[in-house]
Amino acid sequence: MHDKIISMTGNNNKTEHILVCISSSPSNPKVITAASEMAKVYNALFTALYIETSKTLTEDNKKRLYDNTRLAKQNGAKIVTVNGDDIPFQVSQYAKASRATKIIIGRSGYKPSRFFTPPNFIDKLIGLTPDIEIYVIPDKAQKLYIGQKHNEQFKLPKMSLKDALKSITVLIAVTLISSIFRMLNIDEANIIMIYILAVVLIAYITDSKIFSIVSSLLSVMIFNFFFIIPYHSLEVYGSEYSVTFVIMFLVALFASIIAKKFKEQAELSSLKAYRTEVMLEMSQKLQQFGMKNEINEVTREQLKKLLNCNVDLFTNKNDDEIVNWVFDNNQQAGNTTENFSQSVNFYLPISNVNKVFAVVKIEKNEISEFEKSLLIAMLRESALAYEKDAISQLKNELMIKNNQEELRSTLLRAISHDLRTPLTGISGYAELLLKNSSKITDNKKQEIYTDIYDDSIWLLNLVENLLSITRFDRNEITLKKESESVSDVISEALSHLGRKKDDFIIKTKIEDETLCAKMDGKLISQVIFNLVDNAMKYSPCNTTVTVGAKAVTDYIEISVEDEGNGIKDEDKEKIFDMFYTVNNSITDGRRGLGLGLALCKAVVEAHGGEIEIKDNSPKGTIFSFKLKGEANE
Ligand code: ADP
Repeated sequence: MHDKIISMTGNNNKTEHILVCISSSPSNPKVITAASEMAKVYNALFTALYIETSKTLTEDNKKRLYDNTRLAKQNGAKIVTVNGDDIPFQVSQYAKASRATKIIIGRSGYKPSRFFTPPNFIDKLIGLTPDIEIYVIPDKAQKLYIGQKHNEQFKLPKMSLKDALKSITVLIAVTLISSIFRMLNIDEANIIMIYILAVVLIAYITDSKIFSIVSSLLSVMIFNFFFIIPYHSLEVYGSEYSVTFVIMFLVALFASIIAKKFKEQAELSSLKAYRTEVMLEMSQKLQQFGMKNEINEVTREQLKKLLNCNVDLFTNKNDDEIVNWVFDNNQQAGNTTENFSQSVNFYLPISNVNKVFAVVKIEKNEISEFEKSLLIAMLRESALAYEKDAISQLKNELMIKNNQEELRSTLLRAISHDLRTPLTGISGYAELLLKNSSKITDNKKQEIYTDIYDDSIWLLNLVENLLSITRFDRNEITLKKESESVSDVISEALSHLGRKKDDFIIKTKIEDETLCAKMDGKLISQVIFNLVDNAMKYSPCNTTVTVGAKAVTDYIEISVEDEGNGIKDEDKEKIFDMFYTVNNSITDGRRGLGLGLALCKAVVEAHGGEIEIKDNSPKGTIFSFKLKGEANE
């Protein structure tokens, strides 16, 4: 019955949120396991929270923290790291913000302080989060752990010579100032204040707490030695001075501890602000630049900035065994992980669930939990950018495929009508010649032959275009790309122009005869043929048609210029649509099928290029398209 009630509550669409606190304590695994079991029973959201303080962890504690974090992850927890020294306060803040309903902690959260005992961790947390249920998991190992921690705490603090010199200088300086005060008969209470100020200053400018303690003690002794009768002796007449010294020592000490804490907090928050800034900068840059190589560069640069060490990014497998392993397994590797833990570097995948886009190699062996969580958030941003790039490529491919689908269905409908006209012409003329040959004059016969020839050439070109369009059939573009000489491909196209070209001045303007590009030579030659054929179709006789080719940065640009009728702006977009023809006064009066430019566009786009129209000056049109140069393929 009891089980039933629990599972009914548990099925409540994950409204329960269980928060467990991770620590480096040996008892923490027990707490995590208990919390994970509870999360399962309640079907709850499960978060493991680590509060990273400004204190440096020992190697043992770091290892335990890593193991505990991994255990929480294995048990399905979302790992969150928050920075701050006031652990119960940070836990309560996060619990409220994330709407946690239950907090599970061990007794290890309590840390005895050297100078005063703060309210018990659990009591403080209860006080701060009165609306959240708190479960405490007791543990016997705790005593042992606290014992170990005491040993750690009594290790000799680190002292630097520089800090010692700074402290001595400050104490000498205030002693000199106090001597002047003394000469000016200023009250000794003011001298005490100056010494307290000096101790606070020392606490702020030095790194170790030992300087605060020693300078508090020294300031009392110096004050006694120089300014209290008997001078130049540590003896004291009268007991009220002893009280003064104790109070002076305590005030100096507390003031310096507060100053130190303030400094640490300020440093921590400025570091945090810097790192958050790096992260924001990264997401801004990623939005700005969408190409793959730009994403690589931005990610690498920002990670370098965040971690202040060398970072490499690989988008493909290489001869580094660990990089390849990360690509195959989509998991972290290197130091601080269990995979290739002997490596001095840290490896992370930039990935989504299905795909590893890149692998980063971080040449740093100390990465804090806070840095790690930012790092992972940054890599998530970067993975999103890679994903976006991949999707836009896929979209382009799909668009081409979709166009082909449309192409096929409209093709058959339109074609049957348009083929009839020239075929009727050819068969009619042939019949005339067969039946009435003797009655037709030689001149008339010449005219009929020419008409039959023109019609059949028109049909041949049409069939040629149709055949090419069907090469784009079956959802697959079958380009036979090979390295071709641009000049040869243009000559090939011009050689098929037929008798009509004699009525025009056809010029070629090829910048460099050695220009080469990877292309399907037959299709590109057909594109050039169509463009030149159009140029002649829509221009008056005896005008010039120029076919040009030149290298533009990494591309080769091929253009066809005419001095014809030109194309109105409103038609410029549409003429590439299949079967779209403009009502144009065509010189030979034959109606176009509207296939030529559609094929040109499809072929150029299948080569990864784009076809453009510009007005020629003073008259006519320029069609141009770009192909990737040899080096770019
Ligand atoms: P078609 O020439 O068979 O009609 P196209 O697809 O080749 O089909 O061309 C579509 C339309 O674009 C043509 O009907 C014509 O009006 C216009 N056009 C193409 N090339 C030129 C050009 N060089 N000058 C003027 N108009 C042109």
